Amino acid sequence: MREIQLHNTLSGKLEPFVPQKPGEVRMYTCGPTVYDYAHIGNYRTFVFQDMLRRFLKLRGFQLTHVMNLTDVDDRIIANAAAAGKDIRGYTEKFVQAFFEDCKTLSIEAPEHWIRATDHIDDMVKLIQRLQEKTFTYSSEGSIYYRIAKFPNYGKLSKIDLTGIQAGARVDNDRYEKESARDFALWKAPKPGEHFWQTAIGPGRPGWHVECSAMAMKYLGETLDIHTGGIDLAFPHHENEIAQSEAATGKPFARYWLHAEHLLVDGEKMSKSLGNFFTLRDLFAKGYKPSAVRLALASVPYRKQLNFTFNSLRQAASGIERLRNFADRLQQGKFPAGKTEGMAARIVQAEQEFDEGLADDLNTARALAAAHELMRVANVAMDKDEFLQGDVAPARQFLATFDKVFAVLEDNDAQKLQALGYDSVQAGLSDVEIEKLIADRTAAKKMRDFAAADRIRKELAERGIILEDTKDGTVRWKRK
Ligand code: AMP
Ligand code: ZN
Repeated sequence: MREIQLHNTLSGKLEPFVPQKPGEVRMYTCGPTVYDYAHIGNYRTFVFQDMLRRFLKLRGFQLTHVMNLTDVDDRIIANAAAAGKDIRGYTEKFVQAFFEDCKTLSIEAPEHWIRATDHIDDMVKLIQRLQEKTFTYSSEGSIYYRIAKFPNYGKLSKIDLTGIQAGARVDNDRYEKESARDFALWKAPKPGEHFWQTAIGPGRPGWHVECSAMAMKYLGETLDIHTGGIDLAFPHHENEIAQSEAATGKPFARYWLHAEHLLVDGEKMSKSLGNFFTLRDLFAKGYKPSAVRLALASVPYRKQLNFTFNSLRQAASGIERLRNFADRLQQGKFPAGKTEGMAARIVQAEQEFDEGLADDLNTARALAAAHELMRVANVAMDKDEFLQGDVAPARQFLATFDKVFAVLEDNDAQKLQALGYDSVQAGLSDVEIEKLIADRTAAKKMRDFAAADRIRKELAERGIILEDTKDGTVRWKRK
């Protein structure tokens, strides 16, 4: 079997993946900041992590995967105070929505889901260790990390430290990409905002120290893999390294994997730019969970993913074909026997699938292996050259494929129903409406007005009103 190669941000290279303990992988993932609903950019990163964990399991590794919920951060504390709620009261809705979304996207639960608010003591202890080693200083009730004392600062993000001003401090967890500044490990309470009374004084943890403390608590002082979106490499992960390695004197994480962003019109999808879709936005438009998962999963994680509705439609039709193929394998009648050629073709697909994923999780390559086998097998079936003995290995291949891609089970309707989308399911989706409008336009062009009228009537019966504009385009709306 081909050895797994992963791109390590730390070295900037592809490296063979060898965990510390043979057969076991300890992996940490920075989870969502639960101050709002997550958007599909966030899920691009979470689906990548899910594909990675599924592939490692498929390869037989025993996985301990920890994912946190960042339920203490500047925005949460401020929003909770503004809403007159405590932190749990404010975040609970978003936590539950996140869990539901993960289920809907077939993102497996990690071995440990943990919350920052359950680990304040661990964070305080880590800060105390850093205090003992004089990596910290205090100012106005806050405690800061002294970057100048950690010579390796910048090794992950390769940030240029020549202009660093010793002692320049920042209180925000998230700050400009260009400047390395002493960051807050512990923040003094602000009037009206929640704080914890602790051995290092009243206040709340900085975002960065949360992940260091929680990761080391569950996974030991050196992790095998640490993952997140590329925007987390600096400052968040750089700061996690500075805190953890200063405290322990050991490497914090051996492989750092970062997913590139999902873009809309060339810009990062983000809450602050307002150019985002939540999963629920897409479901309301009639797209299915499996299509969203595949559209997010099929572009290799180190490539930027330009989000388009067309990519969702393509993913949906790809899934349709794969599911039809799986049905054909299950229900079709095939002549007796087994063909050498097809058996070899299935082995080749299995190899290509595995090698694609071993090649830094090249999901596009793995997906292409499945499509190619399906194409060849469908042609053979049409010619009665696909025989009974070929069925079991082909089904076995699809089962392996789905252990990682998780899109073949026909459960979209149930998933949507669980989220309360039955009415949308019964109605026409945007995609279907636009398809019918295109059919009507084509009919008119062919001067088949009866067909064009039929389509208009059908749409009207299903609650869709068309308006032909002067410039020849068609507008539509739901009644
Ligand atoms: P946050 O909730 O902001 O902490 O983000 C959760 C995860 O989503 C992090 O790993 C981010 O790096 C990632 N993320 C945020 N925006 C995007 C995007 N547009 N594309 C891909 N990943 C993203
Ligand atoms: Zn983190």
